[in-house]
Amino acid sequence: MGLTIYLNGEMVDQSNAKISVFDHGLLYGDGVFEGIRAYHGKIFQEDLHIKRLYQSAKAILIDIPLTPEQFKQAMYDTMAANNLSDAYIRAVVTRGVGDLGLDPRKCPKPTLFIIAASIQLYPEEFYQNGLEVITAATRQKPSDVISPRIKSCNYLNNILAKIEGIQAGCIETIMLNTKGEVAECTGDNIFLVVDGALKTPPPDAGILEGITRGVVIELAQQMGLEVQQVALTRFDVISADEVFLTGTAAEVIPVVKVDGRSIGDGTPGALTLKLLAKFRELTSK
Ligand code: PMP
Repeated sequence: MGLTIYLNGEMVDQSNAKISVFDHGLLYGDGVFEGIRAYHGKIFQEDLHIKRLYQSAKAILIDIPLTPEQFKQAMYDTMAANNLSDAYIRAVVTRGVGDLGLDPRKCPKPTLFIIAASIQLYPEEFYQNGLEVITAATRQKPSDVISPRIKSCNYLNNILAKIEGIQAGCIETIMLNTKGEVAECTGDNIFLVVDGALKTPPPDAGILEGITRGVVIELAQQMGLEVQQVALTRFDVISADEVFLTGTAAEVIPVVKVDGRSIGDGTPGALTLKLLAKFRELTSK
């Protein structure tokens, strides 16, 4: 017995959780998803994740055949079916099964599935020692081509950037937009600490508006820190006092080296560690 998966309204064993080869999610990456965490039986920022999922679906004209409340319940049911109270949840909605053409009208019913798995935490040493990252040659897609604010099943450019990182021995990679400004990382948002203030690229730099990013901005403001959403360059990154990344899986993770240049004194920054502690306080309740 493997995990129990929610698939189109039913709970099935993972060995039976199968998708048609004619599903447009598979044939064309035509779908949207969310990566979500639950802490102590409570789905973290559930309303914001549901909102982003439904907005992403709306942007690509998929009608999710559940109300947001029903979707939320299905996520809790999937956690319960796997006896999980701390979990990483993947919720996916694809265009559904169609024919071999692009035409979405041939896909009458979206495919929905929810996976709740026990979380694979990043090794603690990453938090203690910080990450080394590089800047990828692969750019984030420009928002006038396809908005990075849609969390779609098309992650190919992020994957290409990730491969560049892996080849350089890095698990995360900074992506620039087509203007050469810093956008985000392959699965995380980026923040700089400069003279005691936080700086992070604005949504129109071509980023996914991370839920963790929003939480960290709020935490920082509660701590009395100034938060600026401004265009940033690679120079800004390498000359910052501190750099950190935010994301559902990573939470808040320090970066200590970018493109071979040490950030600050080359160890996780004090404000980064304070924000990580505040974040963990928030999720420990
Ligand atoms: N950017 C990208 C490209 C991502 O895939 C993610 C992870 N979902 C993030 C940023 C961070 O977003 P969140 O904090 O909502 O996980």
